[in-house]
Amino acid sequence: KLALRGVVKRFGDATVCDGIDLDVEEGQMVCLIGASGGGKSTLLRCINLLEVIEDGEIRLDGEDITVPGLDPQTVRSRIGMVFQSYNLFPHMTALENALLAPRLVKGQNSESDRQEIEGLFVRFGLADRMGNYPDQLSGGQQQRVAIVRALAMRPDVMLFDEITSALDPQLVGEVLDVLLQLKAEGMTMILATHEMEFARQAADKVCFLKDGKIIEEGPPSTLFTAPREADTQAFLARAI
Ligand code: ATP
Ligand code: MG
Repeated sequence: KLALRGVVKRFGDATVCDGIDLDVEEGQMVCLIGASGGGKSTLLRCINLLEVIEDGEIRLDGEDITVPGLDPQTVRSRIGMVFQSYNLFPHMTALENALLAPRLVKGQNSESDRQEIEGLFVRFGLADRMGNYPDQLSGGQQQRVAIVRALAMRPDVMLFDEITSALDPQLVGEVLDVLLQLKAEGMTMILATHEMEFARQAADKVCFLKDGKIIEEGPPSTLFTAPREADTQAFLARAI
């Protein structure tokens, strides 16, 4: 379980995360929504320790991962992250991309790493793509490879930042299907997304962020149909 308390992140004078409290239970899918600049990406980056927070705490299964001295790489092997731009290494095949992180951590890939990662390719419809280089793959395929690469570290939690935003509309579905599959398998996930219909159908909890604050949160059945806050209402009126 992931628990954020009073998380503050500033860039200069701008407070981009302004006292964020957030609980993500094991196996939950939480969607962060809100207008551009609200702080969704920054919050995910804080959880992945790509940003150093100024105040508050972030607990993973009870352990504060923001205390000084913790190795960020250890935390990142437990909390995987996938970005809008898939950032695969162009000179490595899909399979080599996915094998890289476990190899860097352990010195070499074990036979079980290999089997497990090949199993991920099969599960996500990429069985015949393992030997392809990124430029031989569609955007949707590359993004699924990026997800496999993050899963290769066997994380407890996965963070996804607008992972379908750069894709052609007809490729979005195949990536969202991977998320549904992960959810069915019990993965704990946080998504920053503009895919309101997906959030409505798949999220356990939706958080509306504005100016670095969670203005409103709740199950999609209430947040989308009966938002309490005027800001949420105005955002949804424009977004849906
Ligand atoms: P979008 O929907 O466009 O992805 P977002 O909700 O993800 O927006 P963030 O990218 O987290 O928003 O940005 C929140 C605010 O923080 C913005 O005002 C942005 O300009 C600012 N910001 C983000 N990163 C930095 C940085 N490295 N230095 C200074 N300001 C930053
Ligand atoms: Mg963003």
